[in-house]
Amino acid sequence: MSDQRFVVAAPKLATLPVVGDTGLFPVRRIYCIGRNYVAHVREMGGDEARDPPIIFQKPADTIMPDGSDVPYPKMTDDFHYELELVVAMKSGGYDIPESEALNHVFGYGIGLDMTRRTVIDAPARPNLPWELKKSFDQSCPCGPIHTVEDVGHIDTGAIQLVVDGDIRQDSDLGLMIWRTPEIIANLSKYFSLEAGDIIMTGTPSGVGPVVPGNKLVGSIAGLGAITINITN
Ligand code: MN
Repeated sequence: MSDQRFVVAAPKLATLPVVGDTGLFPVRRIYCIGRNYVAHVREMGGDEARDPPIIFQKPADTIMPDGSDVPYPKMTDDFHYELELVVAMKSGGYDIPESEALNHVFGYGIGLDMTRRTVIDAPARPNLPWELKKSFDQSCPCGPIHTVEDVGHIDTGAIQLVVDGDIRQDSDLGLMIWRTPEIIANLSKYFSLEAGDIIMTGTPSGVGPVVPGNKLVGSIAGLGAITINITN
């Protein structure tokens, strides 16, 4: 039955499961931080100056749950994984001080910032928006949220991605250039953070391509693991 308030079908609210709770975490916005581990900055051809964080967004409806089949996207032949710690917000606002930032965190999860590293027929100019590379359909596999009450604040520990049994990314959250409180403080200078926002905190080195048939298992110490399968 359609909802008579709307003139076309209304979009579904994106949600994430919460470990140990039947309630769902409603996703409002997905903020992403780029180039937040020195070894990854180097592999992408950058220098390691502590520039302000790169910020972009994915639409909330790009989320794919743990266990999903993720179709190889259109308009690329270079589809990459980026395994990232996800921070889920329970409150927010503008100009959050670093010292208060963690009070706004609901929990943590594991996400993949899937990326069209090259985009077919895209204008070959630097400094263009990243939407075509980053914000396409089904580009944000994300596992369940673990609450701060259950797991505490996750800021060090192994982060590892395995593709078909081979370790491709193997780092430690302690190597993030911008730590979670700094990321929240910086983001909130530009945007009013709100309950339901999630933040992808950047990927360590070892990014690379996947093809249909690959099985990706991403794990973070204290948060378990998520699995996705790349399909045609
Ligand atoms: Mn990323």
